[in-house]
Amino acid sequence: MTADDTAPDWLQTGYDSIWMPYTQMQTAPLPQAAVATRGSRITLADGRELIDGVASWWAACHGYNHPHIVDAIQGQAAKIPHVMLAGLANEPAFTLAARLPRLLDLPGYRAFFSESGSVAVEVALKIAAQYWHNKGETGRKKFLSFRGGYHGDTFATMALCDPVDGFHAAFQGVVPGQLIADLPRDDASAAALDALLAAEAGTIAAVVVEPIVQGAGGMKLHAPDVLSRLRHLCDTHGVLLVFDEIFSGLGRLGTMLAGQLADVKPDILTLSKTLTGGTLPLSATLASDAVFQAFQSDKLEHCLMHGPTFTGNALACAAANASLDLFQDEGRLAQVQALEQLLAPALAPCRDIPGVKDVRGQGAIGVVELDIGGFEELTWMRGRFIEEGVFIRPFSDIVYLTPAYNIPADDLARLCDAIIKVVADWSAQFEKK
Ligand SMILES: *Cc1c(COP(=O)(O)O)cnc(C)c1O
Repeated sequence: MTADDTAPDWLQTGYDSIWMPYTQMQTAPLPQAAVATRGSRITLADGRELIDGVASWWAACHGYNHPHIVDAIQGQAAKIPHVMLAGLANEPAFTLAARLPRLLDLPGYRAFFSESGSVAVEVALKIAAQYWHNKGETGRKKFLSFRGGYHGDTFATMALCDPVDGFHAAFQGVVPGQLIADLPRDDASAAALDALLAAEAGTIAAVVVEPIVQGAGGMKLHAPDVLSRLRHLCDTHGVLLVFDEIFSGLGRLGTMLAGQLADVKPDILTLSKTLTGGTLPLSATLASDAVFQAFQSDKLEHCLMHGPTFTGNALACAAANASLDLFQDEGRLAQVQALEQLLAPALAPCRDIPGVKDVRGQGAIGVVELDIGGFEELTWMRGRFIEEGVFIRPFSDIVYLTPAYNIPADDLARLCDAIIKVVADWSAQFEKK
């Protein structure tokens, strides 16, 4: 695909050299050239302004360019952008580690910092595996996760994703498979999981789950009692429980953590996307004190054997501290609860459009599930949304909104109206029944 006359030079030149994520570059249209962002608006090179419904892969939860975060990053850049975290300490990383357990009501939890969500999950797996190793239970090397789940794109995390819908069919057999089960949504599926855990006694290091909402697997929701059942089963079978809160975490569902909706605490927890308000790459793996204690010993080899170059990056941690300030100073959770009240009625008219299978949502998530015929239909819709002046990017069989928590009500209404209009057009264009 080639650029039109208004496109900046760097777009086509760079497109011929860059490798885009999850994109069939032979057929995909050129991406939109973004030249500025502010709040819930993205300005394109040709001067158009789009209302953003995605928050850049669900991360920009305070909108773009929030001055409090920008100031924190600029101030930190002038002092210390980064120093290595072995032998040296920086204030933003240590402050963030101390704040997270307080703010998340996880007293005594330790934070390990990495740069991406996938790596945070990898670190959770390594902590779980080494926890058992340090305790002398050397047979616990497997992990169990759930159908419909998504935990990242690196090798170990791919093995935890849904084997069919998890984007990674090309890599089957390259990584050792893990155990994939159905979520314990009812007594029957809980009994099946109970039996599986019993059959695998002594072999499983940890169970990994996205609490309340499976994000990249299609924004599928489950009830809080699934988490209570998981906690109970893991305790019964002596297995560690990991909550991957990289999507659900930090306010998306109206509580800081999704696990709080079930009043369940995991042994290990991962955060990333919203951690810096979507500004800089940063992730955290938090582990309970009981887990941490298994690494305390007079033997060096009992320490956590992990250390990314940029762990505890001072710039990113300063951005994260500023982002946490905003939850308190600008009442973010109340804003998410208000969004939840607006989203459901605004998207409800989609139910009457032929081809719409489900309309659902929770917190700052709104989802319209479609009877999608194939990838051409997704591409067609993506183009129509740009024409409507909004950035909304349907994938698999859903059109969704994960806006900034502080999106103005007018902008949210325009996003919802665009969804109703484009879904109706799609339904007519592709003759849905
Ligand atoms: C996005 C996501 C990841 C992976 O994070 P990256 O930063 O893309 O590596 C892992 N788990 C969940 C639940 C996610 O939504």
